[in-house]
Amino acid sequence: MRKEAERAIALCRAIATCSEEPGRITRRYLAEPVHAVHALLRARMAALGMSVRVDAVGNLRGVWMGRPAHAKRLLLGSHIDTVPDAGAFDGVLGVALALEFVEIARKEKLAVNIEVVAFSEEEGVRFGVPFLGSRAIAGKFDVELLALRGTDGVSVEEAIRNFGLRPEEIAQADSHPELDGFFEVHIEQGPVLESEDLSIAVVESIVGQTRGEMRFAGTANHAGTTPMRLRHDAMTAAAEWMLAVEKFVIEAKGLVATTGKIEVEPNAGNVIAGRVGVTLDLRAAQDESRVEALKALIGIGYEIGKRRGVSVEWHSKLDQSAVPMDERLTALLGASLEACGYPDRVMTSGAGHDAMVLAARTPTAMLFLRSPGGVSHHPGENVRVEDVEAALHVGKDFLRRFSSAIR
Ligand SMILES: [Zn+2]
Repeated sequence: MRKEAERAIALCRAIATCSEEPGRITRRYLAEPVHAVHALLRARMAALGMSVRVDAVGNLRGVWMGRPAHAKRLLLGSHIDTVPDAGAFDGVLGVALALEFVEIARKEKLAVNIEVVAFSEEEGVRFGVPFLGSRAIAGKFDVELLALRGTDGVSVEEAIRNFGLRPEEIAQADSHPELDGFFEVHIEQGPVLESEDLSIAVVESIVGQTRGEMRFAGTANHAGTTPMRLRHDAMTAAAEWMLAVEKFVIEAKGLVATTGKIEVEPNAGNVIAGRVGVTLDLRAAQDESRVEALKALIGIGYEIGKRRGVSVEWHSKLDQSAVPMDERLTALLGASLEACGYPDRVMTSGAGHDAMVLAARTPTAMLFLRSPGGVSHHPGENVRVEDVEAALHVGKDFLRRFSSAIR
């Protein structure tokens, strides 16, 4: 599969030249260079004998019929928008590989219909809301989103019209009734597979997350005249809690927590801190363990505050459940890894993906590829050709299993 892998990588490199900024890869939702990306993908889809259309949110969709027209279909793909100053592979590789899977299905005469989708929006850069493309296909595009305005003053509705599309047709983008499943291949965007020297892994779920702020209120006072035993220092209470969070999460396993931002009042070198707010971002594949951990971490905060004479309050900002991938499709994918001689490594995605939106509407499976150096959302983002080959071998086996499973 070396030839196919190299062709997929070359397509990613070609798409990377379609950018809003010279010398950097930046391609926001429905920006001008997206027309050029569509032209590249359309040419390839036409050569594969696919029928191509762009739906009303700008998803480019090509259909290849390996079975009679009334049969259901497997959706394959990922997103083609990027963060500012991005790499060439986040999202785009999933689209390039989807086209290789059509190539394979055609050659092998597999009894399956495939729809390849290049989602127009996943990153949430232009309008601050992610998954505009996949929401439409999953039938979850709230029409109120059309009124959102980006920093350039243009609304979602205007962006869609400017691109030559009709927002009033968004409801027709929902292809759920025709779908038998969705399969997304994506780079890991983290260091786990590299640290284990593995090419690929099956994604079993996408993490749930809690975000909020722990607020510590003590007594601001003079740094020179207040004896240590008479202090109610909000800063040291917050610091003790931050270290306790780290220790708890390391010992609990299956969780990651980040206390990434603090706000301090009065924030002066010669004043004991009176108020400190510390953010907490807590993620886990299991909602139950995340909810339990949060309860425990809040309790630890109260205990620290009580001992130090500092009041403590938790303010929740986000509570989002984990999204499991489909059990049956995930098992098929795991069997494909083993059949192709790869360890059936199962992992959790710590970041959101289109697959988490589609999972609410159709059985969904996801495959991760090693990210060299764990680098992503950065021009240094890369893939190894042998890992792309591994994804192609496994994807081919998966397509075969899928086509016989739905007969
Ligand atoms: Zn992505």
